[in-house]
Amino acid sequence: MSGAKHDDPRALLASYLTQLAEAGEKDICLSSETVALVRGAASSQSGESGAAQTHERPRASQAPDVSQGTSVPLNRAVERPRETEAPQRLSVGEKAALLPELEPIEVKLALGPATADPDMFVEASHLGSCTCLDEIERISLACEKCELAGTRINVVFGAGDENADLMFVGEAPGANEDREGIPFIGRAGALLDKIIEAAGFRRENVYISNILKCRPPNNRTPLSSEIAACVPLLAKQIEIIAPRIICTLGLPATQTLLGVKGSMGSLRGKVYAQGNLKVIPTYHPAAALRDPKYKRPMWEDFLRIRKEYDKL
Ligand code: SF4
Repeated sequence: MSGAKHDDPRALLASYLTQLAEAGEKDICLSSETVALVRGAASSQSGESGAAQTHERPRASQAPDVSQGTSVPLNRAVERPRETEAPQRLSVGEKAALLPELEPIEVKLALGPATADPDMFVEASHLGSCTCLDEIERISLACEKCELAGTRINVVFGAGDENADLMFVGEAPGANEDREGIPFIGRAGALLDKIIEAAGFRRENVYISNILKCRPPNNRTPLSSEIAACVPLLAKQIEIIAPRIICTLGLPATQTLLGVKGSMGSLRGKVYAQGNLKVIPTYHPAAALRDPKYKRPMWEDFLRIRKEYDKL
């Protein structure tokens, strides 16, 4: 090795590592920059003098040469990512906080008697005296206000924390829910549970219900007459629970609560407000199961829910 090479810090480092390897050092951890530096020096050494070609290499089985073709017998040199190279993982709250603020759109929720079927007033007045969810549930279990009473197995009233700040409102029970009497327990329910937890909530700390408490045959879309007959139960649930945020799942729930028409694509991605109550629509998890393209916007809506919840 010439004197000039000894003045080159890269060549000195390569020489030092070579000595370590020959001394039997098994593990040498280097940053990616150092490995690149050493490879450069090693190539340079090899090309200039050929001295390395006369150097006895460790056997491959003992010492894999990561310098890939250079004469520097680095013994299992490992590229160790620098701390600053480690990917920064943001918590869901931090991701939510990065979302831009949205000015809530003032609405009047379509749950009052003004939008309801005249028959509903009678039911609503009975409901008016209820002061807890158990009383409303008793009324719903005996309800025959629409023809779904004749085909249901169970009334699926709702489940969760009666004092929840966050409430989910879906469309109607499916086959599993009808059989068990519990909302969102099928595949769509499993997906909803996953997203709820990914957004940093726990199912037992939120409240989950539907606009219809009985299953429409073959999971068909609820009829407007069925919604009109059933919505007083939901209105009373909301009054008792008094959530600060309602997430509507799917178009029927979104249109029913907001009292508007429009596609899910045009209604989601926004925050609606009536006083202290905010409504954040998103796709029904069953839609995301049918077509995964809905999962991303759904997740964005859940981040929005997280953001609004963290501001409470
Ligand atoms: S869907 Fe609602 S209104 Fe119809 S029977 Fe069931 S509880 Fe009553």
